[in-house]
Amino acid sequence: PAWEKRVTKSARRTSASSLTVLVTGASGFVGTHVSLALKRRGDGVIGLDNFNRYYDPNLKRARQKVLSRAGVFVVEGDINDANLLHKLFDVVPFTHVMHLAAQAGVRYAMQNPNSYIHSNIAGFVTLLEASKSANPQPAIVYASSSSVYGLNSKVPFSEKDRTDQPASLYAATKKAGEEIAHAYNHIYCLSVTGLRFFTVYGPWGRPDMAYFFFTKDILKGKHITVFESPDGGSVARDFTYIDDIVKGCLGALDTAKKSTGFGVDGKKKGNAQYRIFNLGNTSPVPVTELVDILEKLLNVKVKRKVMPMPRNGDVKFTHANISRAQKELGYMPTTDLESGLKKFVRWYLDFYSPLKNKSVW
Ligand code: NAD
Repeated sequence: PAWEKRVTKSARRTSASSLTVLVTGASGFVGTHVSLALKRRGDGVIGLDNFNRYYDPNLKRARQKVLSRAGVFVVEGDINDANLLHKLFDVVPFTHVMHLAAQAGVRYAMQNPNSYIHSNIAGFVTLLEASKSANPQPAIVYASSSSVYGLNSKVPFSEKDRTDQPASLYAATKKAGEEIAHAYNHIYCLSVTGLRFFTVYGPWGRPDMAYFFFTKDILKGKHITVFESPDGGSVARDFTYIDDIVKGCLGALDTAKKSTGFGVDGKKKGNAQYRIFNLGNTSPVPVTELVDILEKLLNVKVKRKVMPMPRNGDVKFTHANISRAQKELGYMPTTDLESGLKKFVRWYLDFYSPLKNKSVW
């Protein structure tokens, strides 16, 4: 393929013990940060992204430029393209797949439900199929979501809690992803690790998320709508800073055991690893407080509207118990919401400065 040389160069690693990682969704928010962190420490990294138009494609292209400058090549393609995946696995002996490509967001399902099935279910299966027949078989670390806890109201959420009441199609497809991963682990001895991220925010973030569009609307002088749950009280989220999430992802990759696969006799060689971890911040913050912090950082008096929470797939609150990730991945979030938002706002004002990025607006 035309990209073969660039892929081989991007896959170069600095030592034999470094990883060779395929990062799907590499031009996405989390994918960009994880790819940069892996490359910085000497791992070989290849990105894969279909650059879909769910949100501003210019932002994805800008992230791609940053990746390219750091030596990370992003192949443009879809995780549903089995031929492309087979070619990639033929060219590069990936030790790990960091699977972050997905149709994210809960509200968009009302407009385009099939995009969730396409990327989060069919695409994940295509990727697992390609991984299972690759030689070597890579260990898979994939993004799940705190949304799998759905209507569960027992907080903080621990990995053993029930996840059978999704509140959105997004959550249902993320939950399906965990179960599909389990089946591939059971049948093909693929090593799989699911990471349930809790509301990730930070520089290069996603424009469809509240902290991002609040910032945009506050700067434009628009009203901010904050939702109140029917039993009173603001909606709260366990906002987790991107650098903390990246550390959790690297911890999961580093502790992932090899897929055990099958022996030449066609028999299973052993039980490969199946893991699920919460990656959150363990301190939920009401959305009203998020607005207070942005008001302070942006130095603009915010016009607020309080509305009852619509039934649009959002849940009232999220709160992670992270003791399992602490113990097994050495995961320890260190950034509080105000410090993290300060970094986001600094990035936002620079990136969207009318002098620099006219095309983005
Ligand atoms: P994102 O939308 O910024 O990144 C996803 C990337 O995947 C995008 O660049 C998109 O173009 C790409 N993509 C989508 N479908 C694809 C397909 N079929 N083939 C190839 N590429 C495709 O989202 P993000 O915030 O970076 O999220 C990364 C992962 O983490 C997702 O799986 C998401 O569901 C999960 N997650 C994110 C959060 C959060 O708060 N950001 C919370 C929980 C879970």
